[in-house]
Amino acid sequence: MRRAALAAALAALVPATAMAAGTPAFPWVNEVWSYTISGFLWTGAVLAVEITALGMTTGVVLGLGLALMRLSRLRVVSSVAWFYIFIMRGTPLLLQLVFVFDALPAIGIKLDSFATAVIAFALNEAAFSAEIIRGGIFSVNRTQSIAAASLGMGGWLTLRRIILPQAMRAILPGIANNTVSMLKLTSIASVIFVNELTFRAQQIVGQNFRFFTVFTAAAIIYLLLTSAIAAAQALAERRFSEERDPGAGGIFSRLLRPHGVASPLPAAIVPMRPNTLEPQDLAWLQLHERARESDAPFVAGHNVQKSYGARQVLAGLDFVVKQGEVVTILGPSGSGKSTLLRMINHLEAMDWGEITVDGKQVGYQPSNGGKPRPTRDLARARADARIGMVFQHFNLFAHLTALENVIEAPIRVHGVKRAEAIAQGMRLLASVGLAAHAHHLPHRLSGGQQQRVAIARALAIRPTLMLFDEPTSALDPELVGEVLGVMRKLAEAGMTMIVVTHEMRFARQVGDRVIFMDEGRVVEEGPPAQVIDAPRHERTRRFLRQVEHEEDVT
Ligand code: ADP
Ligand code: MG
Repeated sequence: MRRAALAAALAALVPATAMAAGTPAFPWVNEVWSYTISGFLWTGAVLAVEITALGMTTGVVLGLGLALMRLSRLRVVSSVAWFYIFIMRGTPLLLQLVFVFDALPAIGIKLDSFATAVIAFALNEAAFSAEIIRGGIFSVNRTQSIAAASLGMGGWLTLRRIILPQAMRAILPGIANNTVSMLKLTSIASVIFVNELTFRAQQIVGQNFRFFTVFTAAAIIYLLLTSAIAAAQALAERRFSEERDPGAGGIFSRLLRPHGVASPLPAAIVPMRPNTLEPQDLAWLQLHERARESDAPFVAGHNVQKSYGARQVLAGLDFVVKQGEVVTILGPSGSGKSTLLRMINHLEAMDWGEITVDGKQVGYQPSNGGKPRPTRDLARARADARIGMVFQHFNLFAHLTALENVIEAPIRVHGVKRAEAIAQGMRLLASVGLAAHAHHLPHRLSGGQQQRVAIARALAIRPTLMLFDEPTSALDPELVGEVLGVMRKLAEAGMTMIVVTHEMRFARQVGDRVIFMDEGRVVEEGPPAQVIDAPRHERTRRFLRQVEHEEDVT
């Protein structure tokens, strides 16, 4: 369909040549045609294409570097990038071209006019594409990088695999615009004697004064070239579209697919028992069987403090979670529950205090109390800690299918072989009841399904501890049950879990212990029967009355 439309458009660009050929009434049509296919003009066109291709490629790569520099937290780095962009955007390309042409020989670098043009165009393009790329990165929700960090993915990996592929949707139209602009602007390279298309057209006109036909032919050639750019843009946009159907698609989408996961999968690796979480799915937990028998704390927090500006969010928190225990955290909004969870896997730095998981601090150098000092490779520390995290808003990678979401960290962070990761991923998806949706993108799934994929994704890194931050708060009431059901199975299988939730039934039936927090402190804790049914503190009673009232209303 689209290809036919494109061909029709291209044909229309060459004005009815065949029809008019030989018609004496329009001899100019023949003349335009002969110039349009003239080797002399096309040699110039090829030169323009070469300059554009090299200039754009180099420019976009430099632009990515500049964009990252501008996003740097180091003032010096971002200022240098800002200044470069300020100068290059604020001065005419023509001046830059002449400047490079005259300046390079002065410092002993002798290049021909073609290389000079490529360099000047690339340096200029870098400034513009830097801003386009920066805008694209801003367009990707920050929750995507938080989810990646929770899976142990480092900065570069997150940029390359998660942020840029999603930013491409916003970046591509701008870059395509710039490509078209550059192709046409190569004509000004004639000032440094680059013999390109417009320059050649002028040379012909200078000899025979056939302004109309020669320039029309040149315009047609430009239109043909820019149409090719538009076609490439359309293809690329389809590749990065959220609507892409990973199962179908033409040769291009198959070649360019990020994972190339075969679909449908061979029957052998689609497990036969759906919607159950068997002990062998959590086989890695058996390693800790010995520890589970002891009463030693698995997660221990001591005097944990955190402030945002002047506001103290965690005010010296102490807590302990034992191996295989399911602890639910209750507390009013803003009491620091999410901050606490983020601190356990070091998604956020502590101001003071200590948290150990399985005896080790995540991403801190050993210290004897005092101010915690973060280690250099935080991503590695998170990966090694193997702490799974599930978010209120799922935070699935929007450009990856359910299965791709699940296998990303095992393959990229933990070096699991692709076939093995896919087999494990399919088992996990089946165990949360979603084998049939493995090849669907997140936006095609319901909230409950997305959250179950998110749980499978967290389980794929073989966690020894799972953190849940209000996993059902964003769900329609009828979808809450399916997510709680999976969490219940996980608890029964022996997973150590810390669950921030308002679901009282879950806290009562599944939780071993309840911690009630307010204003960054533990107000009271104990078995559910005590904290929920017979709270000792007035603050707890008031909170529970509110929550239970809400439950009655809904
Ligand atoms: P809860 O999850 O219990 O609702 P949070 O841990 O999300 O509470 O937040 C506790 C307090 O810290 C809130 O007042 C919130 O506004 C503040 N806060 C959380 N994250 C940030 C942040 N990144 N910057 C500034 N303030 C924050
Ligand atoms: Mg919260």
